[in-house]
Amino acid sequence: MTVSSYSPADPGDLVVRVEAAGAAGTAAAVERARAAQPGWRGAGAAARSAALTHAAEAVEAHAGELAALIVREVGKPLAEARGEVARTAAIWRYYAQAPYAPSGAAHEPAAGEGLLLTRRRPYGVAGLITPWNFPLAIPTWKAAPALAVGNTVVLKPAPEGTACALRLAELAGLPAGVLTVVPGGAAEGGALVAAADVVSFTGSTAVGQAVVAAATGRGIPVQAEMGGLNAAVVLPDADLGQAAAHLAAAIAGYAGQKCTATSRVIAVGSAYEPLAEALVKALGATPAGDPGDPATVCGPVIGEAALTRLTGAIGSARAAGAEVLTGGARVDRPGWFVEPTLLAGVPAEHPLLVEEFFGPVAVLLPAAYLDEAVALANGTRHSLAASVHTRDLDTALAAADRLDAGMIRINAPSSGVDFHLPFGGTKSASHGAREQGQAVLDFFTASRTVTLLPAGTAR
Ligand code: NAD
Repeated sequence: MTVSSYSPADPGDLVVRVEAAGAAGTAAAVERARAAQPGWRGAGAAARSAALTHAAEAVEAHAGELAALIVREVGKPLAEARGEVARTAAIWRYYAQAPYAPSGAAHEPAAGEGLLLTRRRPYGVAGLITPWNFPLAIPTWKAAPALAVGNTVVLKPAPEGTACALRLAELAGLPAGVLTVVPGGAAEGGALVAAADVVSFTGSTAVGQAVVAAATGRGIPVQAEMGGLNAAVVLPDADLGQAAAHLAAAIAGYAGQKCTATSRVIAVGSAYEPLAEALVKALGATPAGDPGDPATVCGPVIGEAALTRLTGAIGSARAAGAEVLTGGARVDRPGWFVEPTLLAGVPAEHPLLVEEFFGPVAVLLPAAYLDEAVALANGTRHSLAASVHTRDLDTALAAADRLDAGMIRINAPSSGVDFHLPFGGTKSASHGAREQGQAVLDFFTASRTVTLLPAGTAR
């Protein structure tokens, strides 16, 4: 079996074709990683820190090449692709400090003499399964913390991001067995979950739930970051021009293919009419186009199936009485381009308001008051991110307190969060520990409690 990855902006362009690892090859990669792990952990904090710093430097030294590869392989517009490369280097650098952090603490015994220690240690082999939409940053934000605390890593990237993952591992230049990429799809992903000591997954909800069930069945720790159906709440007192610009970026940026993209815009009270007008204008200013052009905001969607699913959903919403305020069609050019689209009057039970569609499409919804807006926003299982647009601090804080989403941004697009802060959602959007920051370093290690008594203590 082979894995082939084609450019979504130019589907005739084969970016890479490689042999799939297969289930047996994946299991063998895990065994090599297991054999390499004691040496990697035993090399010490300075060696691991230096290796991660080297990876950051290699990414920086090849920034132009990597950005071009992201544009070509997954159709991310150039400006965002450059941003992803810079973020990738920053993540390696951030976690390069982690090997020096304390790995435990000393405690007082509840009674008597002695010393209690808690100490965290790596599990062994971290199995990482990643999506295509951040083909350098997501593999890095899982691999760097796993490696920093002494695990070795086997990475199973999405087939559509294979070339990016292979180049990242090559540039990182880690010792043999420390970071291995296994190209493939579901079979390799399943084999990795069956053999790894700890699993971190990012991708769609259905696959994530299956991965969680399989890992939990084996009794190994697992975290999963899955899809979002993210809402933006716009109050009448907001700077509506600014809100519309932020929303257009969150709806159309990278053709809406971020787990934190906005797909539901909830306009409160008198905000509805002026916001609809401003948003139609802002989306009209971000047409779908060549991802290699530094001015492009909205590139192609990842493939033909994604395009068909999106245009089908827009068509069925129309048939159910929805109004297309802007966009709504495939762009007449080679590649998988959909116009940035805003719909109104979509029935509540329509799939566009129930499932994640991962495209440059949003639904505008009215709400009489903030309470109703919060109830609408929370009326989903996919509560990953949300944004609130208002000039009033009390309203902002009240909304932030009551929204279910794991990441809430005030007067900013729903998409985007700093890489050193906890990342994740609630309900079906996430399972297990948060990614990023300290939370993920804890996830990739197990705590052990050690009791030391003076020799000869009678107890
Ligand atoms: P996907 O679920 O199709 O694939 C994700 C990964 O799982 C791929 O590597 C795939 O090959 C692998 N896989 C598929 N079937 C498997 C199986 N049965 N067992 C083990 N592994 C299997 O998702 P995708 O299309 O690559 O990515 C888009 C999705 O990712 C969207 O739903 C998006 O919301 C989500 N995403 C979430 C976050 C987040 O942090 N919440 C971030 C980025 C993307």
